[in-house]
Amino acid sequence: MARMYYDADANLDLLAGKTIAIIGYGSQGHAHALNLRDSGVNVIVGLYPGSRSAAKAEAEGLPVKSVADAAATADLIMILLPDEVQKAVFENEIKPNLSAGNILAFAHGFNIHFAQVVPPSDVDVVMVAPKGPGHLVRRTYEQGEGVPCLFAVYQDATGQARDRAMAYAKGIGGTRAGILETTFREETETDLFGEQVVLCGGLTALIKSGFETLVEAGYQPELAYFECMHEVKLIVDLVVEGGLSKMRDSISNTAEYGDYTRGPRIITDETRAEMRKILSEIQTGQFARDFVLENQSGKPGFTAMRRREAEHPIEEVGKDLRAMFSWLKKV
Ligand code: NAD
Ligand code: MG
Ligand code: MG
Ligand code: MG
Ligand code: MG
Ligand code: MG
Repeated sequence: MARMYYDADANLDLLAGKTIAIIGYGSQGHAHALNLRDSGVNVIVGLYPGSRSAAKAEAEGLPVKSVADAAATADLIMILLPDEVQKAVFENEIKPNLSAGNILAFAHGFNIHFAQVVPPSDVDVVMVAPKGPGHLVRRTYEQGEGVPCLFAVYQDATGQARDRAMAYAKGIGGTRAGILETTFREETETDLFGEQVVLCGGLTALIKSGFETLVEAGYQPELAYFECMHEVKLIVDLVVEGGLSKMRDSISNTAEYGDYTRGPRIITDETRAEMRKILSEIQTGQFARDFVLENQSGKPGFTAMRRREAEHPIEEVGKDLRAMFSWLKKV
């Protein structure tokens, strides 16, 4: 079994006296910055001029600088920008401000693995990737817990890269939950596969198709919403707590029998073949090329898909229903 590392395995002192620049203050950025600060680490935030996040970071007492100034000041630079802007920001503002022995860190391997960011050879290059969204990274830390993280070393210029990555993971609360060692390649390929096939692409396609099938057959959209979308969380919570068997214990025997006999008819051999094809597009760099080119051309397809998906009837019904839930909660 793969080894998990915990608080006792990591040494936060390795970050003592160092300045950590968190570049970007979005989902991951705000969580890393605040958790590290609360762990006693010296944190600054690097943002572009006019960023709306600057006021939020300053309200937390975090010093905000330009990306270039933050990179120049810091010993460890964690890049928490959207993946598609990292290349340009790195080239123009970070790379000229790196010094030998600095640590360049990422929360996802995409830009290093697909050679969009090519760091100089005299800095450590590491990854600490929380396996959860930023708001959970922050909330669990405040509760004295943490989100499990992956960590990896791409380049070890100082001989300390691995220990420093583990110290960073401790600072954001990751070692409270456990951290697992990987490589940039493995993290990148499995992360992309997971989000495309299961977590985001697969799940949303499943939810929408189920909803559409019921509505087309004349059932009320509100019921279709409850069955195909709302209840997903209840099921997933059980699966995360105790595996598929805990969920199957909790559902009715009728539901369990339907699960075993009908589930495999939804994910067919054809679906599995498509999963392998998607994995291969990730491994060959075809997906990365598509995404990079899409962004270079100003995201025409991305924007159109975003708009079309936001207009899906399940979103309309959901908005109305959820507004009722919060109205009920307020009373
Ligand atoms: P985000 O979109 O939530 O936040 C990005 C931040 O960068 C924002 O503060 C934004 O204002 C700023 N920004 C955008 N363009 C900029 C520019 N040109 N110059 C300077 N700042 C700019 O991003 P995120 O979801 O936190 O993702 C950051 C990294 O973390 C990515 O590598 C992502 O793959 C990784 N990651 C994200 C999650 C997640 O759940 N969101 C989980 C694990 C890893
Ligand atoms: Mg987003
Ligand atoms: Mg992921
Ligand atoms: Mg991802
Ligand atoms: Mg039911
Ligand atoms: Mg049962």
